[in-house]
Amino acid sequence: MVLIKDDLTLEELQTVMSLLKEGDSTYEGVVEAVHTLLERPENVFYRDIGHGRVMWVARNNTIICPRTPEPTAWYLGGCRWKEYNSERGAEIDVRNLARGMSYKWAILNLMFSMMALEGRAKIEEVSASRMGGGKSVIFEPNYNTENFSRANQPLSDLEKAVLKDKVVPVLHGLVQYIFAPDMGTHCGHVAFVEKYAPHNVACLSLERGGSGDPSLITARGVYESMLESVVYQLDRDGLNNLTVVVQGLGKVGSFLIEYIIQDYPIANLIITDIDRVKVAEKIRVLKARGINVRRAEPNEIYDQRFDIFSPNATGQTINPSTVRRMVKANRDKKLIIVGGANNQIDDRQAGRREEVEGLLKKSNILYAPDFVVNLGGILNLIYEFQPLKDAFGGGYNQERPLGVISGVRAILKEICERSNRLGLSPQSVADRLAEEQIARWALFNGFGPDELIARGYLVDLLPKNS
Ligand code: NAD
Repeated sequence: MVLIKDDLTLEELQTVMSLLKEGDSTYEGVVEAVHTLLERPENVFYRDIGHGRVMWVARNNTIICPRTPEPTAWYLGGCRWKEYNSERGAEIDVRNLARGMSYKWAILNLMFSMMALEGRAKIEEVSASRMGGGKSVIFEPNYNTENFSRANQPLSDLEKAVLKDKVVPVLHGLVQYIFAPDMGTHCGHVAFVEKYAPHNVACLSLERGGSGDPSLITARGVYESMLESVVYQLDRDGLNNLTVVVQGLGKVGSFLIEYIIQDYPIANLIITDIDRVKVAEKIRVLKARGINVRRAEPNEIYDQRFDIFSPNATGQTINPSTVRRMVKANRDKKLIIVGGANNQIDDRQAGRREEVEGLLKKSNILYAPDFVVNLGGILNLIYEFQPLKDAFGGGYNQERPLGVISGVRAILKEICERSNRLGLSPQSVADRLAEEQIARWALFNGFGPDELIARGYLVDLLPKNS
């Protein structure tokens, strides 16, 4: 169980949030310093764990973490266990993913801070979201699916051996990295690791006292973001008579559909998934309930007539070609892209992200930044931290995350307004909001721009098999 200690008071939070307003004389300098700081991790840990396997753990930034009663540097992000083309590829991935986590935690912390000042969240929720961005990867050469379990299956002997003999010692050594599921890992891995490193895991199952699968909360966050996007972009209150494309009928996509039709039964749905059986079944069930729904092939989904496009499958789907196709099919409309998938904008080549953002702006498409829209995933897991269990009656209760996730709307509103006012893309504004929030904590903790830049970059390269 994660045990974050933080003496933060509401008065101190008021001070933190009064720091660094847009337009302050130091604003640009400090935010720029934080931006530069987050470009490189605080620490990248590398270990050869035998049989060609390599583990990396990146700690991007922990400046947001509590300093009292004692300085801490907890950092959390899932563990990816997969094959990469090269060790360099794994290192780049772990660095980028850890950086993304710093931004996500900062936005969650901003949301709770704003809500706490309005009396809608507890100070303990602000404290629990003072988490640094981290990530780990295990590079598995010649990945053989037969050696690996899937969710709800028992772990293989190989998985157990690697976790117990190699991963757990790394967690003990790093002390404050929190291991959570990601691609190639699931709650079973977390439960196994918990036996040996009980304070270094998150996302345990409900049966083991954890917060369980976050997908319902993530989907609720997507839904709330969708409603806010409609207010801003279409000046409408609700989804009735609008057409929503749902790409991906997994956990998030399916819960999202339920939220939509529960409140707006006369919305129109277009659904797609690479799993044809899933699509057929969903069409059958929804039609039986009187919902106006139709299917589209995965590769034709961008050519549909719609108002809202919701990516809930894989990342990198929003590229110049897909945006042009959406625009071509909907020339007379103001479109919205809002979904739960991670890393939706294609950024695999230099300049690609800027190209996509330029096209979105030119085409008057509102893109709700994915790491804001899908923050329900990390929001849910903090309720298994001991201080939040203590603050909310002793155990995890899904009602609380479901109740507070609507706070994402205020963040999105601010992003849309600033984006419009400054002519910046919503993604850039979201990044700035996160950097501002980290900068506030930095200033509160006594760091100025020079000290921020001076914080060093350390690569912790351990000798092979040490
Ligand atoms: P999931 O694996 O349950 O579902 C994904 C679905 O997308 C599957 O049904 C799959 O068949 C389908 N799919 C894959 N590629 C596709 C394609 N090209 N076109 C159409 N369908 C395709 O995953 P999930 O938990 O629902 O998560 C969905 C997305 O949201 C992922 O990108 C995930 O990283 C992200 N996300 C999820 C959570 C969460 O709480 N589950 C939190 C944050 C982010």
